[in-house]
Amino acid sequence: MTDSAHVVLEGLDSIRTDIEDLYKDLHRHPELGLDEHRTAKKAADALRAAGYRVVDGVGGTGVIAVLANGEGPTVMVRADMDALPVREQTGLPYASTATVTGSDGAEQPLMHACGHDVHVATLVGCARLLAEAKEEWKGTFIALFQPSEERGDGADAMLADGLTATSPRPDVVLAQHVLPYPAGYVGTRAGSFLSAADSLRITVHGRGGHGSMPQATVDPVVMAAMIVVRLQTIVSREVAALTPAVVTVGSIHAGTDPNIIPDRAVIQVNVRTYDDHARAQVLEAIQRVVTAECQASGAPKPPEFETITSFPPTVNDAATTQRVAEAFARHFGDDAHTVDLQTASEDMSKIPKAFGVPFTYWGIGGTDPALFAAAGGAGKPAHVPVNHSPHFAPVLQPTLDTGVRALVVAALAWLAA
Ligand code: ZN
Ligand code: ZN
Repeated sequence: MTDSAHVVLEGLDSIRTDIEDLYKDLHRHPELGLDEHRTAKKAADALRAAGYRVVDGVGGTGVIAVLANGEGPTVMVRADMDALPVREQTGLPYASTATVTGSDGAEQPLMHACGHDVHVATLVGCARLLAEAKEEWKGTFIALFQPSEERGDGADAMLADGLTATSPRPDVVLAQHVLPYPAGYVGTRAGSFLSAADSLRITVHGRGGHGSMPQATVDPVVMAAMIVVRLQTIVSREVAALTPAVVTVGSIHAGTDPNIIPDRAVIQVNVRTYDDHARAQVLEAIQRVVTAECQASGAPKPPEFETITSFPPTVNDAATTQRVAEAFARHFGDDAHTVDLQTASEDMSKIPKAFGVPFTYWGIGGTDPALFAAAGGAGKPAHVPVNHSPHFAPVLQPTLDTGVRALVVAALAWLAA
C-alpha cells in the first residue's frame, strides 16, 4: 500500500529509539497535575526542534505546538501529561522512585499509573513524523499537551488562559488513552465512551453528646449509615435498567471515641453516568435522599453539599469516529476494534466544546498480550493491572508504535494530501 500514512510511518524506524527513550524518561520522572514543568519542557523542546511554533505555559504548564503546512483542514491532537500519587510496584528498570511533598507536608510517591507518559511520547512521535514528511499532507497540525487531567482542572486551566485565542481553531480534536487491552489493539467507539464523574462531599449535622444519653442528641453516625444504605436505591430503584449509572460512597468519617456522639458526619460520594439526563437525575436524587434523611432524623440544620471534582461525559461525534474507525480498519486490520463503554472519565471534551468542533477519543492497548490471554482473553481484563494500579506497566512495544501509528493514521484521515 502506498497511502500517505504508510509513507509518513516509514520514518518510524528512525525515531523509535528516541520515542522509547523519551517514554522511559517521562516514566521515571512523573509530575502531578499543574506541576508538569519538566514534562512540558521535554514536549516543547522536541517540537521546537521539529520546526513547530510552540507556545508554552498555557494554563500553567500547557503546551500548544502548531505546524502550518499550506491550505487544508486543521487537526488538533491532545495528550494529557500528569501522573498520580501512587507508589510504583512494577519492578521495571525505569520505574519511578519520585516523591513530592504534599500540601499536608507528608511525602507522596509519584507514578505514571495512568499511562499519560505514553500519550506524551506518542504525540511527540506523531508530530515529528508529520514534520519530516510534509509533502504527504496539507493543512495545519496542532499538538496540545494538557496539564492536570486526573483532577479534572487542566482543560479548564488552558481555556481560562485563552486557549481558544492562542491556538488556531481546529476542525476536529482527537485524543487517545492507553487502556488494559492487549498491546497492538486500537478501539474506537461512536457516541458515549467515557462516563461523567461527579465527586461530592456531603456534611450532615447532628447534635453531639454523651454516648450513654442518645436521647439528648441527634446522632449523625446513624444518619450517615441510613444515607449510605438509601443511596444504593437510586441506581437499583430509580434509574432505568438499561441506563448505566454508578453511585459509590467511597469515604465516611464521623466521631473519635466510642463514648461520644459526634455533631457531624462527612460522606464522600462518587457518581458515574453517561449522559446529561442521567447525570442530572442521579445528582438530584442524592440531594433529595440526603436532605430527607436529615429531616427524618431531626437534624438541627440542613446538609451541606460540596463538589470536589466534576467531569463531563465523553460522547464521541459519530461521523468523526466513523472516519477514524475506517482509517484504523484499513491500517490495523484485525487489530482495529469497537471498544467497550468505559467507567473512567476525562476532561478532554471541554476543549473541542470550547471551540465548538467535533471530537473523537479512542483507546489503545498497553497490556502484554500473553498476560492478557492468560487472564482470560479478550474483554476479560479482570486480572490484568488496570490504570491507576501500582502494577500498571504498559509494554514498550508494540504499545508505543501503535500509539504513534494511531495518531498519524487518524490525523491523516483529514490531512492526507
Ligand atoms: Zn487516570
Ligand atoms: Zn488517564
